[in-house]
Amino acid sequence: MKAVRLNRPASIESNPLQVIELPRPEPREEEVLLRMDACGVCHTDLHLAEGELPPHRLPLILGHQIVGTVEEVGKKVKGIKTGDLVGVPWLNRVCGQCKFCQKGKENLCLEAQFTGYDVDGGYAEFTSIHQQAVYHLPSGYQPEELAPLLCGGVIGYRSYRLTSVRKGDTLALYGFGSSAHLVLQMALFEGIEVFVFTRSLEHQQLARNLGASFVGKAGDVPPHPVDGAIIFAPAGNLVKDALNIMDPGGKVVTAGIYSTPIPQIPYELIYQERAIQSTANSTQRDIRELLELAGQVRLQPQIEVFPLEMANQVLQKLKRSEIKASAVLKPK
Ligand SMILES: [Zn+2]
Ligand SMILES: [Zn+2]
Repeated sequence: MKAVRLNRPASIESNPLQVIELPRPEPREEEVLLRMDACGVCHTDLHLAEGELPPHRLPLILGHQIVGTVEEVGKKVKGIKTGDLVGVPWLNRVCGQCKFCQKGKENLCLEAQFTGYDVDGGYAEFTSIHQQAVYHLPSGYQPEELAPLLCGGVIGYRSYRLTSVRKGDTLALYGFGSSAHLVLQMALFEGIEVFVFTRSLEHQQLARNLGASFVGKAGDVPPHPVDGAIIFAPAGNLVKDALNIMDPGGKVVTAGIYSTPIPQIPYELIYQERAIQSTANSTQRDIRELLELAGQVRLQPQIEVFPLEMANQVLQKLKRSEIKASAVLKPK
């Protein structure tokens, strides 16, 4: 099979991913062999390829937003059969024993393993994945449309649920990339008004087209206060901007794995039970719920599709901010 493999992290301009022929993996007892239909490309892949996030093993096949068709199942696999179209997210396996797993917060598991990080991922024609990380997908979508739901989509979904906004409330989104444009569609479907704050004129236009009722840049004053906010951009000062337009009891949720420092905040900005919370990974329940929601509302992920062999070039484009939507790799 054709695979794109990271042998040693290096600057992405030096093409650290190698296109090679490898034997097709054999599924173990609890694994499912997938023929890859589409695999999303994420900023985390760039951090791994360049070594900012030290890989847990080498060589490594990246890719953690895998949509594939089941080719073969191991002896102990239950509920998944040959020919099923399935998805694999970043969260691969958890211990099930630690205090976080016991509380249903396995996104914080101390021994969590991640797809395309601790185990080989989806930048290959075939990949063998533990059944714990395999999810059935909603119908009515192309495989390349489903791939971005498995990372950007699910992180956005978790952040959205953490805000606790409900029907009739207003939600503010700061930054409008691959995750936010999906959250906007979910929130509108659930009867929530959405305000979008982004510098990019192109993103502002997309937000308007998708149904945001107010669009501006951070610091602009919307028509009325909001009940929740999600910060997608890695800028700590946006937390203060969001609190400035937050009604009592509202929550600001940060979706990123990284942010610049949050500036000093006067106490009155969080008094009246306003809160700030970050998001880390996602739970198995988040993934199931998001895929269920995507079955009820036809989400419209904005995607750009590239051949698998172009993984280095796609990551270079991602680094230069030349990917406007979600990049997805497909084998020929
Ligand atoms: Zn990701
Ligand atoms: Zn655990």
